[in-house]
Amino acid sequence: SIERLKRIDDNRLEVPADYKTGMRTKGIIYVDNILEKELEEESIEQVANVATLPGIVGASMAMPDIHTGYGFPIGGVAAFDLKEGIISPGGVGYDINCGVRLLRSNFKKDTVVPKLKELIEALYNEIPSGVGSKGKIRLSPDDEEKLLLKGARWAVEKGLGDVSDLEKIESGGCLEGADPSIISQKAYERGRSQQGTLGSGNHFLEVQYVDEIYDEKIANALGLFKNQITVMIHSGSRGFGHQVCTDFIEVMERAIQKYNIALPDRELACAPFNSPEAQDYFAAMKAAANYAWCNRQCLMHWTREVFMSVFNVSPIELEMTLIYDVAHNIAKVEEHIVDGKKKKLVVHRKGATRAFPPGHPDLPVVYRNIGQPVLIPGDMGRASYVLIGTDKAMKETFGSTCHGAGRVMSRHQAIRQAKGRAIWREMEDRGIIVRAAGRETLAEEMSEAYKDISNVVEIVHNAGISLKVARLRPLGVIKG
Ligand code: 5GP
Ligand code: MN
Ligand code: MN
Repeated sequence: SIERLKRIDDNRLEVPADYKTGMRTKGIIYVDNILEKELEEESIEQVANVATLPGIVGASMAMPDIHTGYGFPIGGVAAFDLKEGIISPGGVGYDINCGVRLLRSNFKKDTVVPKLKELIEALYNEIPSGVGSKGKIRLSPDDEEKLLLKGARWAVEKGLGDVSDLEKIESGGCLEGADPSIISQKAYERGRSQQGTLGSGNHFLEVQYVDEIYDEKIANALGLFKNQITVMIHSGSRGFGHQVCTDFIEVMERAIQKYNIALPDRELACAPFNSPEAQDYFAAMKAAANYAWCNRQCLMHWTREVFMSVFNVSPIELEMTLIYDVAHNIAKVEEHIVDGKKKKLVVHRKGATRAFPPGHPDLPVVYRNIGQPVLIPGDMGRASYVLIGTDKAMKETFGSTCHGAGRVMSRHQAIRQAKGRAIWREMEDRGIIVRAAGRETLAEEMSEAYKDISNVVEIVHNAGISLKVARLRPLGVIKG
């Protein structure tokens, strides 16, 4: 319970290593005294549960957008030793490589507002969305495998985007070592028609404008300026990644017996990182991650086309370039400094964003001096943020920060609270045009269903694990 947590400083609570039996390390939750009131009992328990897993290095951590997830909390960060440690599908999540990309443009708010309705309508028509929606991409069996190996590059080679997009994507939009041969038929079937689709519910495509700049120098280096139009795209690996996760949870449930791993919760099912089960999962997870990067690449391409057609402008006039693309549900092998020594670790980020510091070799050359852009969506009515990665994140959180606001209401609660209200009209009265595929989506996704993003971002900024660069306000949103 919350009384048993110890306040470390204004922005962090400790879950002591004796919080529950079997913990190998402490937990750290990034929250201040405002957001600690939103902490769910069950999510604290999940932070403690993760601390019991073999080979965990450092603390079991959670970001201020923490809420209860499958086994691991959403907003969780946990790193494991490559020899003693494990990998767990629950530490990545069902939507493998769900993530966010942000596009800039040369447009200002004034240009877009008069045509906003037309623009949102056109985007809604061109970007397939909704549960199980089918895309415009038809994949031959050969294409399917290539896509899983190449990630975003596959789309670029098909004419969807530009090679220069790739360097602005985390990991270049492709993880090496994906293995299409271990993907189940069921996953192939689910993935076949869903490439190039937004998905449902929380996934969105949002037209925004920059309404506040906190760091002029960095904003400038990213190509951001006040009142500029940006587009944020949030989507993942669709049914494909979901099936990969489902398949491997089953594999891992057998693995915990085989390797005799004692777990406080079955949902933490995992396997020793160097076991065949773990290596198969890792290779399948990479294939799903590549599927997701390809997906966001397709969605971006069509977005550019819609803008060019609605405003009748050339690519050069529009200059809708990618600022960055981050994964927020992923496990990666990365080098970190542990007790003064360089060490390779398998870092799980589940509803957490990488936030690498200036100078890190994995950053695109153009951002090498400023650090990694961090993209934090808030909700469809309030705001979203751009931050930048820091050395402090590298030292404290394995180079990680939050990924969003995080829910405060379950979907059911939100639907109940929205009864009798016309959310779309409330939004429109505030100048925000929304279109949603699902009947209940707008209720489930209304602002009040989420924490206030400003509170969440304030914590990571004050803790220094990523620093504010700009705030984005929504103008129009397409939801699944
Ligand atoms: P998740 O990947 O955990 O489903 O969602 C990431 C975050 O996106 C959520 O925590 C929430 O803060 C944010 N979010 C969800 N829907 C919207 C939306 O329509 N617009 C914006 N800007 N953010 C959203
Ligand atoms: Mn997501
Ligand atoms: Mn997702």
